[in-house]
Amino acid sequence: MIFEHLDKYGHEQVVFCHNKDTGLKAIIAIHNTVLGPALGGTRMWPYKSEQEALNDVLRLSRGMTYKNAVAGLNIGGGKAVIIGDPASDKSEALFRSFGQFVESLGGRYITAEDVGIDVNDMEFVYRETEYVTGVHQVHGGSGDPSPFTAYGTLQGLMASLNKKFGDEEVGKYSYAVQGLGHVGIEFVKLLKERGAKIFVTDINKDRVDRAVSEYGAEAVGLDEIYDVDADVYSPCALGGTVNEETLPRLKAKIICGAANNQLATNEIGDEVEKRGMLYAPDYAVNAGGVMNVSLEIDGYNRERAMRMMRTIYHNLTRIFEISERDGIPTYMAADRLAEERIQIIGKLKLPL
Ligand code: NAD
Repeated sequence: MIFEHLDKYGHEQVVFCHNKDTGLKAIIAIHNTVLGPALGGTRMWPYKSEQEALNDVLRLSRGMTYKNAVAGLNIGGGKAVIIGDPASDKSEALFRSFGQFVESLGGRYITAEDVGIDVNDMEFVYRETEYVTGVHQVHGGSGDPSPFTAYGTLQGLMASLNKKFGDEEVGKYSYAVQGLGHVGIEFVKLLKERGAKIFVTDINKDRVDRAVSEYGAEAVGLDEIYDVDADVYSPCALGGTVNEETLPRLKAKIICGAANNQLATNEIGDEVEKRGMLYAPDYAVNAGGVMNVSLEIDGYNRERAMRMMRTIYHNLTRIFEISERDGIPTYMAADRLAEERIQIIGKLKLPL
């Protein structure tokens, strides 16, 4: 049954990690190492079953292959999950025993933080293996990736404006930004610096107040964000917000934001295209975080990281070209770009 799964998604290796003394139950999935070592975060989550954990790690690790390939990195895709409750099951021993498993793979898998894991947990992993990114800055880590993700999102936006309107003048257009967390507020700041009209919403009132007072944004209700008259809808909070209910309400010509998994389904992606809206594929737009962390592998350099963010503009432009060339929606074109890059560089065929 497991091998069927691996065949379906094309995984190279899946490692089940168990240490009964520390209580560790983890799965490391290496999806593809054609472009380089598999990089992807470790998620800690109280999965209801081992099957659920396996499904998640297989899906997420495959996603990392695509994300890293589209980002133009010489890095493959992988991910790990630790089965456990981040609120009650964390310990030094648990993370150190996990680090030993990462080390045992000899660099085929490089880990990072993901949901449920923070920089302190990574310190313990780092004691057992150097194949860790996202450690504290004193160990050569890159620190908070959010400003990079926001700047990368701006690059993706400029490519989208150019494609849709034929210019890149960010300040000429209006924006509906949903979510003012680490990335969202930085993105609003960048928009404001360019003179844009910005509508914002967040469940956290303090964040909304800050966007209004510091960046002159106009606050709208949580549900109202789908109805405002803005040129660009920018999801920077949750996934799945472009769906059957919201799409008919959106007046925007472009969807471009940092949130993961913005399209509720592929069919919605097709519908976006039919309506003549331009969707900037999320994982290409929000690659700033992974680009930033990837630079830790060869020794982190902030200036190089900032330069690298600008490549997101070109990646998006390439995706739009493939979409036109092949007559396919942009979400599909992003996957195609990843597959073409892996095939050309690694001469390896991934299942479509
Ligand atoms: P965050 O947790 O700091 O911010 C999320 C914000 O969204 C919070 O302010 C929260 O109050 C708000 N929010 C939650 N539900 C909402 C709702 N229904 N309506 C409006 N606002 C709501 O997260 P972040 O680090 O800023 O990341 C934002 C998104 O970008 C996430 O989807 C994340 O996966 C993605 N992303 C982030 C990075 C990064 O570098 N941080 C990299 C890649 C992708």
